[in-house]
Amino acid sequence: MQRTNASWLSQARRTVSVLAIATLAGCATQQPPVAPAAPVQPMPARPQAPAVTGQPGSEQGFAQWVQDFRAEMRAAGVGEAALRDAFDNVQYLPRVIELDRAQPEFVRPVWDYLDTAVSAQRVATGQEKLAQIRAAADAASARYGVPAGIIVAIWGIESNYGSNYGNTPAIDALATLAYEGRRRDWARGELRAALRIIENGDIDHVHMIGSWAGAMGQTQFLPSNFLRYAVDADGDGKRDIWGSMADVMASTANFLASSGWQRGQPWGAEVQLPAGFDYSRADSSRRQSSGQWAAEGVRTMDGRPLPEFADGAILLPAGARGPAFLVGPNYRAILRYNNSDSYALAVSLLSQRLEGGPGVQTPWPRDLTPLTRSQVRELQTALNQQGYSSGEPDGLLGPATRAAVRNYQRSAGLVADGFPTLELLKRLQAP
Ligand code: CA
Repeated sequence: MQRTNASWLSQARRTVSVLAIATLAGCATQQPPVAPAAPVQPMPARPQAPAVTGQPGSEQGFAQWVQDFRAEMRAAGVGEAALRDAFDNVQYLPRVIELDRAQPEFVRPVWDYLDTAVSAQRVATGQEKLAQIRAAADAASARYGVPAGIIVAIWGIESNYGSNYGNTPAIDALATLAYEGRRRDWARGELRAALRIIENGDIDHVHMIGSWAGAMGQTQFLPSNFLRYAVDADGDGKRDIWGSMADVMASTANFLASSGWQRGQPWGAEVQLPAGFDYSRADSSRRQSSGQWAAEGVRTMDGRPLPEFADGAILLPAGARGPAFLVGPNYRAILRYNNSDSYALAVSLLSQRLEGGPGVQTPWPRDLTPLTRSQVRELQTALNQQGYSSGEPDGLLGPATRAAVRNYQRSAGLVADGFPTLELLKRLQAP
């Protein structure tokens, strides 16, 4: 995933859902940081009507743009066969521009996202799928040190186990975005990477399909990440993340292994915090050993020892009233796949369930309503006005906004969990 603006990414990734707790800092590695909720919305690969939603003359301009880009790539040394395959039938997709410009107003709470992402059905299907592809999953696991349950959980969340990974040709989507999207330079770089994939002979234009935002195949690799991490595990000479489960499992595991996954370590565990815990310490940047957390009174739910981390952090995805987790380096490796706590938690919990472990035991604060995008903007404006700097108001709950919320909460004598509620917004706006 690219390091990109989270709002764009959230939409780019999936059309429907934006999550309450996207972590906006850091650099997303593979895909847009705001996690997916529902499977990708399938889109007709070849929309017929020129229901142009972009600027007037978009389609004519597109043809010229393609001609220029093609010439540039030819000059850069891309072979004629690859250029013909990629661009002879390239399509401008108005729907891609429409989705790229959509600004979701409502934010899905983490518990609502997890209800879908780790549903009983998702667990049951995952166990069946895992049994079916056991050999491929175990081989990838042995080679890269990432448990089969984690790889299969990513597959389950990215594409509902391959049942829905989108049918938009990546070349069409990326060419449209490079021509008229909100992040043209990024799309141009991905388009160049996609051309290299075609030139390598891994796949052709027609079969190189995925989401409208260019994420491809069963576990939704962007072309640049395909070039870095995709693996030909079945030895047929092609890296095939669409049709070969051996390649899908190995490529996904390779991504995580290259993102800091540590063999033999769990992702983390749900924990109980001691009375009087300082909630401002529940922050991904406050890392210390499990021994230190234990000395402060942090405990697992079942009384077993905490997982052993040299640098674990406490995660409170729904604020002080919700469940707490102790997370380690492998959780952070999952964040590199998609930089959203909702996403990383869903992968972690789904893998835990696939392996017969428990779900979340502490109840979620389901009575809380997450702030809408405009409300977050209002919150940021109010915080800034009162001297709690939250950066440029963008409607997104990033680290700066959370830190500002914490500072405000602390000075107002409230629990400093950095989790904004409507009540807090009203309090901030009160004259
Ligand atoms: Ca292969």
